[in-house]
Amino acid sequence: MMTTLYKSDFALTDGEFIKDRALAVQNDRIVTVGPYSELSARYPDAHVVDWTGYAVIPGTINAHNHSFQSLLRGIATDEPFLVWRDQALYKYTPALDPDTLYAGALLAFGEMLQYGVTTVTDFFYVHGNGTENDEAIMKAADDLGIRFIMARTMYDWEGAPIAYRETVTDAVSRTRSLARRFSAHPRITIHPAPHSPHAASSEMIQAGHRLAKELDTPFHIHVAEEMFEVNDILRGYGVRPIHYLDQLGVLDESMIAIHLVWLEQSEIDLLGARKASLAYCPSSNMFLADGVTKIPELMRAGVRIALGTDGGCSNNRTSVFEEMRMTSLLQKVHRLDATAIRASDTLAMGTEVSAEILRLQTGKLAPSYAADFVAIDLSDLSLQPCSRDLLPSHVVYSMQPTAIKRVVVAGKEVMKDGVLLTVPQARIRKLVASAQDRFAHI
Ligand SMILES: [Zn+2]
Repeated sequence: MMTTLYKSDFALTDGEFIKDRALAVQNDRIVTVGPYSELSARYPDAHVVDWTGYAVIPGTINAHNHSFQSLLRGIATDEPFLVWRDQALYKYTPALDPDTLYAGALLAFGEMLQYGVTTVTDFFYVHGNGTENDEAIMKAADDLGIRFIMARTMYDWEGAPIAYRETVTDAVSRTRSLARRFSAHPRITIHPAPHSPHAASSEMIQAGHRLAKELDTPFHIHVAEEMFEVNDILRGYGVRPIHYLDQLGVLDESMIAIHLVWLEQSEIDLLGARKASLAYCPSSNMFLADGVTKIPELMRAGVRIALGTDGGCSNNRTSVFEEMRMTSLLQKVHRLDATAIRASDTLAMGTEVSAEILRLQTGKLAPSYAADFVAIDLSDLSLQPCSRDLLPSHVVYSMQPTAIKRVVVAGKEVMKDGVLLTVPQARIRKLVASAQDRFAHI
């Protein structure tokens, strides 16, 4: 079997930059990690990729995104949440069809690859009463070569645009049929995603949870992003959102809750006891003035935390390294405590913890893990002064995208020196411009 050896100055394993650590890759997996001299003796016929001057780190994992929102970047910025929602999302939704959604996904995922994201979860809800739109998003991920999870949204709140809404029966059968069709795909997985306690009925949420059990996947749900959502649930059901979800019987280890900004301690304790997870999107929470999630308390309660960029019009960047930095800075300043969280915590959240939560064997440079990794240029000024001991904190606090030189997903190089190798950037720009033309009359 063909082996490729990636030879670099350092590899990030178990939170440390280890000197002279090469990776042996066969097909789409890492098979061995060790000193280059050992690996070259063991695999004498291997193809050698010489990354001298670089360090290899795991690709980052974006646990929460809405790719179409990249098309709406810059629209309704500096507005309150509900004004932003109506003016950016709801207003432009009728113009979204498979072509525009494909353009948006190429833009979102292509940009992410440039920043070292090797896996993305798209919480996708513009179904247009079918699966054609979903397939356009999957095609974009496939064309770019990024690892992809579609959190296929199940949405039945009548206040939302018609393109988002489905009956419980349709939502379940379409999500199930996509999951079956893509079950053999090496890089694409489908998870159910009842939108939120305020935009999915109790029946829809329970159906999403049941379907996740049937498909043996987690399920995703937005919870308590804004205070009004908590008040809605309190008014409707007399309990706070986490207690409501617990009463529905869906609060367990399969739940990936997004945001979790407005929680009381009893909810934090319950999330920990039930082993639920969080996909945390600090930049988006700041951008929309949602509030500050209690990350140290959730960590202490045993809730596992992944990081997400959220949509491209509520951030407006798409880098998980950026979210590592924002997680640290926001939590520190909010508590006036520089020890509230460490770089090593947020680095793990953006890589291996996210992968565990999403049930993917990636996010780590170790045998049998997916060959999803990033080479960073040790001569980049954002990594100076440079040393083994300083690098883990540099990756979180100082590294800029200029340092990200190579991106490999499933053993295939997809970005080199800032240029995507799978879909030409000029093509992405052209498709985005024609989507923009269609928005012009709105
Ligand atoms: Zn979201």
